[in-house]
This record gives sequence, C-alpha cells and structure tokens, in this order.
Amino acid sequence: MSTKQTITIAHGDGIGPEIMKATLSVLDAAGAPLEYEEIEVGEKVYLKGITAGIEDSAWESLLRNKVFLKAPITTPQGSGYKSLNVTTRKTLGLFSNVRPCVSYHPFVKTNHPVMDVVIVRENEEDLYAGIEHRQTRQVAQSLKIITMPGSEKIIRYAFEYTKAHGRKKLTCMIKDNIMKITDGAFHSIFKTLAKEYPEIQAESYIVDIGAARLADSPERFDVIVTLNLYGDILSDIAAEVSGSVGFAPSANIGDRAAMFEAIHGSAPDIAGKDIANPSALLLSAVMMLEHLGLGTYAATIKNAWLRTLEDGIHTADIFTQGTSKEKVGTQAFALAVIERLGQKPQTLPVYAAEATPIPVLKPSLPLPKEKTLYGSDVFVDTVCESLDELNAFAERVKDALPAHISLQMISNRGLKVWPVAAATPDFFVDHWRCRMIGENLTTTDLAQILVQFAEAGIEVIKTENLYLFDGVPGFSLAQGQ
Ligand code: NAD
Repeated sequence: MSTKQTITIAHGDGIGPEIMKATLSVLDAAGAPLEYEEIEVGEKVYLKGITAGIEDSAWESLLRNKVFLKAPITTPQGSGYKSLNVTTRKTLGLFSNVRPCVSYHPFVKTNHPVMDVVIVRENEEDLYAGIEHRQTRQVAQSLKIITMPGSEKIIRYAFEYTKAHGRKKLTCMIKDNIMKITDGAFHSIFKTLAKEYPEIQAESYIVDIGAARLADSPERFDVIVTLNLYGDILSDIAAEVSGSVGFAPSANIGDRAAMFEAIHGSAPDIAGKDIANPSALLLSAVMMLEHLGLGTYAATIKNAWLRTLEDGIHTADIFTQGTSKEKVGTQAFALAVIERLGQKPQTLPVYAAEATPIPVLKPSLPLPKEKTLYGSDVFVDTVCESLDELNAFAERVKDALPAHISLQMISNRGLKVWPVAAATPDFFVDHWRCRMIGENLTTTDLAQILVQFAEAGIEVIKTENLYLFDGVPGFSLAQGQ
C-alpha cells in the first residue's frame, strides 16, 4: 500500500505552469512522499462559460484530498466572472490566510534588512463577500460583511499562531475610527481575546498609519491580524518591501481543507519566458509539507533554497549586480535548489520545520441577548437639485408615513442634509437615506411604510432595519447627525 499522501494540484495560467513545474521538480527530488491529482482551474475553464472558473469534478478532488497546491490563475476581464480564489476559499471554509514576509539580507536587495512579519488575513468576509448592487442611476454599493464568529475565529487563530511559533507580538489593523460597527466589532473582539493571551503583546493600529509604518519600518512588526481587504493590500506591500512579490507564499487554512499558493498573480507580462521566480510557490509548498506533518522534507527544501540564495543564484526579479552571482531562469533556479538538497545556509539562520499544529477553536464569545427594533433606514431613488426640492421631498415622505412613525433625518452619501442645517452641500446624488423611528415598532409597521411609500409614488430601493442590541445601537449615526 502506498504511504504517499495525495494532494490536488492546479498548474494555473500565465507563469503558473512554469513555476509549478519547477516546484514539483524540487518536491520530487527531495523525495517528498506525495502523489498529485491534477485539476484544471482558471482561464480555460472560464472561457468554457463556467463563471466560477472551476468544474464540479474539481470540487470532488479538493474535498477528497483536502490539500490543494495551486499556481496563480488569470481572471478574464469583465463583470461576468467570479473570482476563483474567493469562491475556493469560501466553499472550502478557508477562513485564515497566513502570509509570511521575510527579508533575506544581504543576499537579496531590500531597504529593510530586518524583516520577519507574518500577516494573518481574514479570508471569507469583508468586501470580498462580493455583494454589489447598482441601485440608482448615480449610485452603486458593495456590502462589507463582518461577522462576530468569523472575526473571533481568525483573531483566535492569530493569537494561537503567534503562541505556537514562539512569536511575541500581535498587531491588529483596523479602521474603526470610521467604520465603528464593522471594524469596531473586529477590534473589540481582538481586545477581549488579548486578555486570554497575557504572554503576547497585543497592539492596534488604524490601518492607514499601520500600512505606512509597515512600508517604512517593518521591523516594528511580528504578527499582524487584519480584515480581508486590508490584509490583501498589506501583504503585497510587505512582500514587495521584503525584496520581491516573487518571494511571498501563503497558506489558506480551514477546518476541513487547506490551500497553498503564491500571493502574486499569473504575471502574463513574463509568461512563457522561463524568467519567473518560482520561490513563492516553492515556499507555499514548504508550508504545505509542514501542514501535512512532513516537516523534515520542508526543512530540507527550505534550507537548500536559502543556500541557493546565499550562493547568489538569482532569478531576474531579484538579480542585483554586485550581490548576485548568476542570473538564472525558472527551471535552472529549481535545479540549483535540487543540487543543494541536504546543504544548509551558512549565514542566514538554518530553518527548522515549524510543524506545530495551530488549533482551530470554535467561537465561544457571548452574543447580545436582547435585540430591539428601533427604526428603519429607507433608501429612496429620487432627484432633488435644490434645498427647496429637498424640503418638498421630506414633506412627501412625512405625509406618507404611518401616524406613530416619524422621519428623524435624511442623508445623502452618508451626510445628514435634512433637517436642513446652516451648512449644507449643494451637490446631491439620486440616493437618499430616510431614517424613520417610532415607539414599539414591529416589522409589520416597516412593511406598512413600504406600502404607503409605493402608494405615494416614492421609489424605495432598499431598507435596513435599525436595532438595539442589549440597548446598544447597532447602527451608525449619519455624519453631522
Ligand atoms: P501579478 O502578481 O501577476 O504581477 C505583478 C507584477 O509582478 C508583474 O510585473 C509581474 O511580472 C511581477 N511578478 C509576479 N510574480 C512574479 C514572479 N513569480 N517572478 C517575477 N515577477 C513576478 O499581478 P497582476 O499583473 O495584477 O495580475 C495578473 C493576473 O493574475 C490577473 O488576471 C489577476 O486576476 C491574477 N491574479 C491571480 C492571483 C491568484 O491566482 N492567486 C492573485 C493575484 C492576481
């Protein structure tokens, strides 16, 4: 009986097939006990008319093998195609995206010689929920979904990761000075969980200054936990300042499966030229070996790779006159790593396999007990070009309301514009939020508003219920309210 573990692989698009070939040649030369089941994903599948970029038969392989080594793919331009990466992460429940960004000074040119940052990015929520609508002629929206259990799961994972890897500090990056309900919840869960890990230094940054500090002085950071979109941007910045995006691997971890891939894309500009750096995919494969409990193979490959860098054998993206000794192509780089299997770096730290499993703990923080209906934000499509027209619109809304419900304010692009204040902008779009409140409201009252608005010829394009959770408002005030 074979003692080899079967994993699913996809060769991808652009430089994908070249860097996958290089990676598999190193895995095989190292004797990693793996068998590969190949699936097709990406451009060819999209162009067959499958908008998700993956066929049903491929899911069977992924669900059976539970481990996926994936080369980058090309998402065709156009609104009809859904991101395969986002679909895969969500379908397999890969909630955690772990992205180590390390500099290899003095062998790889970087302005930041001391850099060893791991970004733990939430992987399923946020704006990547992909729920977008164009609601009026002038306005489109994208919903930012942040869940309490999802946030708790990723933050706990980040604390457990920090602990298991003997790291000292976990930094949370959020924008809760603006998004108080969504980013605010993430931050609040971070502060709550930090109390359970007193041995780890927990700190927070507003993401804009955090990103600036990461780009300027990455040595300040150890492990970073953040929301999906910020993590996407921050990890590209971190990878680039460490030396090259061609270096940064990632592990997408879930309860029932894991996917390993480079953070860079399919680089169509250099595809087919045998010049791409295969390191990011190779290092993703190293993370995969650790995940599979094959830490010895992981260490052998990583140490040979470090030695190759030290020996100055570099691909074009990191080749620097003076530091580098030989410029090689993708396959020749892999061959150089293979020749060094069994050797160790002489200056860079020798790599010891990090096989510590990170527990994935079930969310357990208490949720609010009482949820009370407080009001409704009713969004209306109409054109008001002057304050007189706005006042007339407010009168129509008030006239159309059931007796026990009142209009508290109207906002345009988030700014309160009615009741009209001394300073009111003179530019409005056709998308108005009318905030209604009332005593002892029921959802039937809210349905009644919609009926009466329809009868009055007011076009409602969506509503959001306003709730209090244990007495705390679950909605933001309008700017200026
Ligand atoms: P990209 O990462 O493919 O390329 C950005 C730049 O980095 C290019 O100049 C490229 O030549 C260079 N580069 C990237 N990887 C390199 C490597 N290994 N060695 C040397 N240089 C490298 O980003 P992009 O151009 O914005 O996207 C191209 C395509 O990739 C798009 O279709 C995008 O949707 C897709 N993409 C896929 C993934 C994925 O599959 N995980 C991730 C990001 C982008």
